[in-house]
Amino acid sequence: MCGIVGYIGSKNTTEILMDGLKELEYRGYDSTGIALLDNDKIEVYKALGKLKNLEQKISDANVGENHFLGIGHTRWATHGKPTELNAHPHLGEYSYVVHNGIIENYKEIKDKLIQDGHKFISQTDTEVIVHLFENYYNNSNDTKEAFQKTIADLKGAYSILLISKVQPDSIFFFKHGSPLIVAKGKEEKEVLFSSTDAPLIGLADDVVYLEDGMGGIASPAGIEFFSDEITWSTLPQSKQYAQKDGFRFFMEKEIYEQHDVITDSMLGRLQDDQIHFDEFDAKIIEGIDEIKICACGTSYHAALTASYLFERLSKIRCSVEIASEFRYKEPLMSKKTLFVVISQSGETADTLEALKMAKKAGLKSIVVCNVDNSSMTRLGDVTVLTRAGIEKGVASTKAFSTQTVVLWMMALYFAKFKNAISQDKLNSEIFALREVPKALIVCDKMHEKTRRLSKRYLHGHGFFFIGRDVFFPLALEGALKLKEISYLHAEGYPAGEMKHGPIALADPELFTIALMPQNLHYDKIKSNVEELSARDSTICSISPLDFELSDDFIKTNKTDHYMLEFFEMLVALQLLSMEISVRLGNDVDMPRNLAKSVTVE
Ligand code: GLU
Repeated sequence: MCGIVGYIGSKNTTEILMDGLKELEYRGYDSTGIALLDNDKIEVYKALGKLKNLEQKISDANVGENHFLGIGHTRWATHGKPTELNAHPHLGEYSYVVHNGIIENYKEIKDKLIQDGHKFISQTDTEVIVHLFENYYNNSNDTKEAFQKTIADLKGAYSILLISKVQPDSIFFFKHGSPLIVAKGKEEKEVLFSSTDAPLIGLADDVVYLEDGMGGIASPAGIEFFSDEITWSTLPQSKQYAQKDGFRFFMEKEIYEQHDVITDSMLGRLQDDQIHFDEFDAKIIEGIDEIKICACGTSYHAALTASYLFERLSKIRCSVEIASEFRYKEPLMSKKTLFVVISQSGETADTLEALKMAKKAGLKSIVVCNVDNSSMTRLGDVTVLTRAGIEKGVASTKAFSTQTVVLWMMALYFAKFKNAISQDKLNSEIFALREVPKALIVCDKMHEKTRRLSKRYLHGHGFFFIGRDVFFPLALEGALKLKEISYLHAEGYPAGEMKHGPIALADPELFTIALMPQNLHYDKIKSNVEELSARDSTICSISPLDFELSDDFIKTNKTDHYMLEFFEMLVALQLLSMEISVRLGNDVDMPRNLAKSVTVE
């Protein structure tokens, strides 16, 4: 979690670091900090909370422009509370470090260093890095050796930038498990570092996406890598600045742009009466008798949705696992299983580890991901990009819709290869796919309706989102959205399960959001909603059909495919949770306790 940036060069270092952190702030915003080096003087500024607090401090302090080197960090705390003391960069006696990840063995290292006389001031795992470095340096007077020995002692996930007064023209860097990019600046003698592409665009052309185990020392004289296997890539030049474009929040903008990005997701993949993927051919499922999908959070809900589609359309057994559970359950893995991982960022630590396990067991793998050049895309056999564009709202919206549509297309592609689908049926599915962008258009009426409904749902003791079939994972996603940004308690349930326990909670203060598609099990879900209504739960139904027992109603369009209803209902759920969050005065784009990509387990 968190974002790190670094800069060596003659431009305004503070400005470059702060602009970079702005791009990375979505990755964590418990605290921010920068360290600036001017000859052998290091200045450090840290602030609790969002970047604007640091901006204020820097402007109050009248920070000058004459630094030629600096490092910066935006934190999502894993060890130690979000306090200014725990904010990065962390100081030893004469060196500073920023770190993304977790040092798993920090306790042992810390205990030993304390015995050796080191004094720690923070509760973070990170602080051990800088003390370890100084410990080795004090013994050898050799910075390179000290840094390499430090790295060798660390267990866990880490990308690190370290600066030190004893070698004031250099940034020491290393990547293991968390992302890090090093770039040659456009100007001579410039070097930049960042956790992702975005802060580098416009400033650099040539970059190295560091692989695990890569590190080195950068200075105005150049970049010395510890290993020879370095591949330089060219950075894309068009910066898709995720501006809000007149919307109140990134989340709102991203809900509205689903219509466009879904079109991009399907581009070149829908061809008349065929589905086509440039990235792979159907051989990938030769000899395969099961698909296993592994994911976390919203991507897990896309995975569950896909499991219905893979079994229904491709007639391939499909199981879904939460990545953090999968890793430690000692799973049995068969080479006849195709392993699919789904992640917006491609960096989600648990999913990445699950992918590594599957690779080690010799399984074929597909990565469904939104970020090219991410750790997962570099590891999987095949990557299918979802093409959602940069998603900045922490609560995922367009990543989910694009994942779902890509997985639906994959299900049809495999169905065709396995002769599990007639051409007529395939044609009607492709016809429906072409209608998805329309289903995702936000109509004013629906938005206004959710705005009005949001007034009624601010109290009570909780929400049930219920649905059947693919509308069950959609119910889970609706509940997760509400939890994430409104902080109200919500649960998603398969509608048929209510009577097996949860219905005991039903009363007027329990709000049931019922997903009632016309094209899939309408009568069944209707009975489940009637059961809840008979127990006085307050019902809001989302459906193209009026339902007389509903207290509230969000009307969707009549269509002839349940997946089109699915996407329209998705928009309704996203808007409803956003409007409730707005009414509660919450930070819609940066909800408390969360961060965009979870790169720690
Ligand atoms: N483990 C470190 C901390 O808690 C870094 C977390 C991060 O990646 O932001 O400060």
